[in-house]
Amino acid sequence: MTERYSRQILFDSIGSAGQEKLVMSRVLIVGCGALGAAHAETLTRAGVGFIRIVDRDFVEFSNLQRQTLFSESDALEKLPKAIAAKNRLAEINSEIEIEAVVADVNFSNIETLIEDCDLVLDGTDNFQTRYLINDACVKNNISWIYGAAVSSYGVTMTIQPNQTPCLRCIFEEMPNAGTSPTCDTSGVIQPIINSISAVQTTEALKILTGNFDALHNSLMQIDVWQNDWRKIKLGAPNADCQTCARKNFEFLDAESAEFSAVLCGRDAIQIVPPKPANLDLPTLAETLKNLGAVKQNEYLLRLTVGEIELTVFRDARAIIRGTDDVAAARSVYAKYVGV
Ligand SMILES: [Zn+2]
Repeated sequence: MTERYSRQILFDSIGSAGQEKLVMSRVLIVGCGALGAAHAETLTRAGVGFIRIVDRDFVEFSNLQRQTLFSESDALEKLPKAIAAKNRLAEINSEIEIEAVVADVNFSNIETLIEDCDLVLDGTDNFQTRYLINDACVKNNISWIYGAAVSSYGVTMTIQPNQTPCLRCIFEEMPNAGTSPTCDTSGVIQPIINSISAVQTTEALKILTGNFDALHNSLMQIDVWQNDWRKIKLGAPNADCQTCARKNFEFLDAESAEFSAVLCGRDAIQIVPPKPANLDLPTLAETLKNLGAVKQNEYLLRLTVGEIELTVFRDARAIIRGTDDVAAARSVYAKYVGV
């Protein structure tokens, strides 16, 4: 252990005491795409003793440009990302425990996934899951580190429940479906992933080793292409926050979270966004036109990509044909419509 972690132990703020804390630590990484894979590799190399990785998706060739844990053979085999990640991470560090969970993270499983962990890292690609993580972490008093990256821009914030503002203190309402760019509509370059993950995982190392004074305490925004780095200082938690002040954990509530349904016998899934929207279909059609065949009328837009046919209505409800798997359908929805 001493040789493997020797350079990290030499780093004053960690030292051997910090290294021992890392070895005893348990971390949940939600989502194992670009950000999640980068977090997982850093924490595996750093010697975090237990890492649980949850992801609902499979490796595809379009992932390889930025999702650094995966290889061509993972894409050819269509391996679940959590499994492919675990295989690779076990080669990097066989001294730690890695648990791969292939699942859609939702209200029914989030609290079980976090309950035995010291810290949660956001590696997701959608706000729905982030608000769910926020509810679960505030309720269970577990710190989590928000992170997102699209195009050449990224944002991150560290949440220590009841001490610092939570996600909902800052972003009170979830953005309307279809209004936020996603990696599948706006693209993304690899360096912004590494930059945001570098900040998130450094914050993780600080928390796990007890270096709380070193946390950045800000909403940090980085654009690696525009050379723009900024920190918006955080104040106190919002005294009216639904989540951390009023303890109204609505994303953990099964009734409001129930938003997808299998359409029986049609090989299709209906997705109903938690918050109805009034989508601008011509604008969405313009965004999606390079990704597949798009047809649009006054009432709906239809995108065909390979076997999948995505139909989006103006209220942001969608029907995804070509699958009877809710997790796969939610993934398609998050990719092309967003949120
Ligand atoms: Zn709050």
